[in-house]
Amino acid sequence: MERLVRVDASRVFYSFDPDIPPAAKASPGALVEFECLDALGGQIRSEEQTITSIDWSKVNPATGPLYVEGAEPGDALVVKILSIKLGEKGVVLTAPGVGGLPHLTREARTRLCRIVDDVVEFKCFKLGLRKMIGVIGTASSERAPTGTPGRHGGNLDTRVIGEGATVYLPVEYKGGLLGVGDLHAVMGDGEVCVAACEVEGEVLVRVDVLEKMAPRWPVVETSDSCYILVSEESLDSAVSTAVEETVNVLSQALCLDWYDAYMLASMTVDLEISQIVDPRKTVRARIPKSVLSTRDLLKGFSRSN
Ligand code: CA
Ligand code: CA
Repeated sequence: MERLVRVDASRVFYSFDPDIPPAAKASPGALVEFECLDALGGQIRSEEQTITSIDWSKVNPATGPLYVEGAEPGDALVVKILSIKLGEKGVVLTAPGVGGLPHLTREARTRLCRIVDDVVEFKCFKLGLRKMIGVIGTASSERAPTGTPGRHGGNLDTRVIGEGATVYLPVEYKGGLLGVGDLHAVMGDGEVCVAACEVEGEVLVRVDVLEKMAPRWPVVETSDSCYILVSEESLDSAVSTAVEETVNVLSQALCLDWYDAYMLASMTVDLEISQIVDPRKTVRARIPKSVLSTRDLLKGFSRSN
């Protein structure tokens, strides 16, 4: 039977810092299970508790880091998400002064949601389950807090990072030092009130390494598309960078003149908002695989470095 590496939720960290010792090691091709706390560190158990009453130093835990043998700086760490198992209760909340409408949000409120089979129960609504991972990243010299997204991944809060997707992250330090956390039972693009249905659970992945293929921004592959995920201080600058990176990658990978690549992008690439509530906002450029394969995208990225 295939050996499973398990990283339990007693091993959490709060910044993608290369000096944090690995919680576990795995070989390329290994199955790894991450046990994850929710984004509140499991501190909210009733609707009477609000985000203003909890220990902020325990918010946004990521489980890990996982050292992947043979992952060297400049490589891509490949994380195929095989399954996400969730707990039975999720939390959604508001907090004064944050979210997409900070000027209108005066109260901290909490709602617990029951998760039954494929449904999330919020008041009288039954919401279809859309399981995803909010935080996934590698250690970087920026040592970003786990609440901040960036080139290393981190708090990407991107709905397409779900079962069946593959995430490609840059390796900046030996072993990559992968962390995973912040599971959501359901979230809309934007994550407008600052929280999704936050829930604990277990994530099963297969890890691998692609030599010298580090993408400049995180890349996600789904059955029909690949995405470049760009996170910057404002949505405007994230959009601009996402378009620029996409055009450069198309030009490099498909040996197209820059203007032709720009026009091709205009006709085929979708810009989507991942989230507008984290310290950096995340935009994703969706490139259909019929236009560019993920392998060519990664090659284009490494050539345009
Ligand atoms: Ca998050
Ligand atoms: Ca979250």
